[in-house]
Amino acid sequence: SSRLFLDPALLQAQVSIPPTTVATAVTDQRVSHKFCIVTTQSIMAPSKLKRANSQIRGSGHSLQGSRPGRESVHQRRRGSFHAKQQAVYDLILLQNVDEQAVIDNIKELYDDDIIYSYIGNVVIAVNPFKSLNIYDDKTIEEYRGRSAFDPKLKPHIFSLADNAFNDMKYRGRDQVVIISGESGAGKTESSKKIMQYIAAVSGSSDKVNAVKNKLLNTNPVLEAFGNAKTNRNDNSSRFGKYMDIQFSFSGDPSGGVITTYLLEKARVVRQGEGERNFHIFYQLLASGKGKQLGLTGAANSYRYLNQGQSTSVSGMNDANWFKEVDQGFDFIGFSADEKESLFAAVAAIILLGEAEFGAQGQGAKVTKVDPALLKLLGCTDDQFNRALTHNTVIVNNQQVVSDLSPTQAGDARDAMAKALYDRLFKWVYERINKAIAAPQNAIKAVIGLDIYGFEIFKSNSFEQFCINYCNEKLQQLFIELVIKTEQDEYLAEGIEWTPIDYFNNKIICDLIEGRPKGIVALLDEESIRPGDKSDDVWLEKLSSAFGAHEHFKARTGPGDKSVPERSFMLVHYAGTVSYTVTGFLEKNTDTLFKDISRLMFESTNPVIKACFPEGDEKTWAGASKRPPTAGKSFVDSMKKMIELLNTKIPSYVRCIKPNHQKAPKMMDDELLKHQVQYLGLTENVRVRRAGFCFREAKEAFFTRYKLLSDATYTGWKGSVDDVHAPWVHHWFQILDRVVGPSTSLRAAMAKTMLDQSISMP
Ligand code: ATP
Ligand code: MG
Repeated sequence: SSRLFLDPALLQAQVSIPPTTVATAVTDQRVSHKFCIVTTQSIMAPSKLKRANSQIRGSGHSLQGSRPGRESVHQRRRGSFHAKQQAVYDLILLQNVDEQAVIDNIKELYDDDIIYSYIGNVVIAVNPFKSLNIYDDKTIEEYRGRSAFDPKLKPHIFSLADNAFNDMKYRGRDQVVIISGESGAGKTESSKKIMQYIAAVSGSSDKVNAVKNKLLNTNPVLEAFGNAKTNRNDNSSRFGKYMDIQFSFSGDPSGGVITTYLLEKARVVRQGEGERNFHIFYQLLASGKGKQLGLTGAANSYRYLNQGQSTSVSGMNDANWFKEVDQGFDFIGFSADEKESLFAAVAAIILLGEAEFGAQGQGAKVTKVDPALLKLLGCTDDQFNRALTHNTVIVNNQQVVSDLSPTQAGDARDAMAKALYDRLFKWVYERINKAIAAPQNAIKAVIGLDIYGFEIFKSNSFEQFCINYCNEKLQQLFIELVIKTEQDEYLAEGIEWTPIDYFNNKIICDLIEGRPKGIVALLDEESIRPGDKSDDVWLEKLSSAFGAHEHFKARTGPGDKSVPERSFMLVHYAGTVSYTVTGFLEKNTDTLFKDISRLMFESTNPVIKACFPEGDEKTWAGASKRPPTAGKSFVDSMKKMIELLNTKIPSYVRCIKPNHQKAPKMMDDELLKHQVQYLGLTENVRVRRAGFCFREAKEAFFTRYKLLSDATYTGWKGSVDDVHAPWVHHWFQILDRVVGPSTSLRAAMAKTMLDQSISMP
């Protein structure tokens, strides 16, 4: 394909250079027989920069990119007043691209409360851990419809949102904003800012406003049910979310679709030290709604809520948030009955945690159950007793019932709590999807992807394994699209190119998802084989299969202390994590006793009943097919997600966490360095800088801009290859936006461009 390449960094730099300099700079562009390309290097060559700088010195202009490297930071520390201008907004403009320069630049901007910067169209966002006055309506107006590369504007996530939105609206291309970064880095906040921006700049008829209102209210609701306080983040997403906002042809939101990925349901019954269960439980109790439903104790008195010994979060008002959630449900369109049933089910989970079991003959009996629980669950004492102390299996089409021991009954209770919560979460977002579904004519979409960030805890299990794998997949996508494909394309087109080294994490993705011999495949093999299966056997299998893999470590023998007992370690792109194997098998098979699904299906609470269709005994007969394992389902859902993302135009937000203390104005140098490394930012800058980031197939470009020229707009029958002159108009259009009314500068640029387009075949 014949494409046109133009590097916006060049345009940005030119703005502040007098016309004569531009002319000199642009003569350095190369023209290959397929491309019109304008190189960054031409203008960034140090000698030229010096010249340009000396020309503009004293004129009040500043040339970004003139930053003389590391010294400026030190000068700044000593109070030099010049240095402040020298941090660049787009890292492409760094004079020396090395890791330290990238780090220093991010830091320097951060010191000035400038949390955003660019690498071309990638936005780097550093979490400020304090509220900044940069998201108000006035700021939105400043960024509305302006070029992302407008040097008068500070970098902003609104700029990315604006670009994505306009590309969708005017060129009809589906967008996806991929937000990555570790837990607590600011992904969820970023995704909300993007939604806020799009809501602000799109139509405002009553109908459109009603849609927006619904869409925006999905946030507090889903966060209440899917987020929790962890040791990494007070409001940590415990599920992956992919939200598709659909638009009408006029570019107004007309609806949306939410897809979620694997909720960390283990948290419902167990929380680590200092952590909480999902927010909604505490909100319910704090609001007074809990009392109405029969919850008389405080949060710290309930087993399912108090294990982290931290039932409140500083700066988070659970009661107020509940009000927001409650209203959010109203806005979205949940009925009072639906809400009542849902809250009753949530309350039931809290009381379920209080149920206890004792021995009775060979089996177990319920020794403690709150009558309020039975009311909330919508079942009788007998039904509850029977369901939690027995296990029914189908053998030769016959139901065979066995007794559970008190311990097994306790496990069944926990399994029931987890399953019920997981299904409620699913019910909530599916109900939301019904409410926000767009009419059929909505076609274009901007999608935000906000997932759980890479995380390392003291003890890591199946959930962290999935979460970190998800992050590997997104990193892989980033590498594929931003680093690898970019380089491959230059090679394929025969453009002069010095390859740039980067770490490709495909090897880790393969290790995890490979079939038939990946970690998940072996987990499945062990989970479904007949006989005594165990986490430890799986660990042995892993060790013998991957002992020599450079990203896998297992204990080599009794004396080996480098890997904790009953654990394996994975060297992820973002750090080494040790996973304890205990519970992997159980979480992977994830089967729920039939007796419990039946109990739920027989509930008089319509929401609970709707969540367990398989509890209908009528469906039990016949050979039951084994449902796919949790691990396999997750791998498949990730693959599907990546396939889908690949069909959209991506933009990236790379979030950075400045410190683990959640403190403002504090940059942990080591932490920053680590993130700059694993996010591949330096490589990203190098590739971007050596490359050409504005590109368009000639055909599409021409189709888009041909109306700017009389020659091509009216009655013209030729093909795009015949045309050179109208290109000038395209350039004028771009230059208009970037350069403004400086006619002589435009003329100089246009002439050079015209010369170039004429020399194209
Ligand atoms: P996880 O992977 O755990 O879900 P995350 O990347 O989604 O983490 P966020 O929840 O977005 O992290 O951010 C954590 C906290 O940092 C927020 O609750 C907020 O207090 C603060 N924060 C993040 N971004 C901003 C911002 N732009 N302005 C102000 N505060 C912010
Ligand atoms: Mg989040």
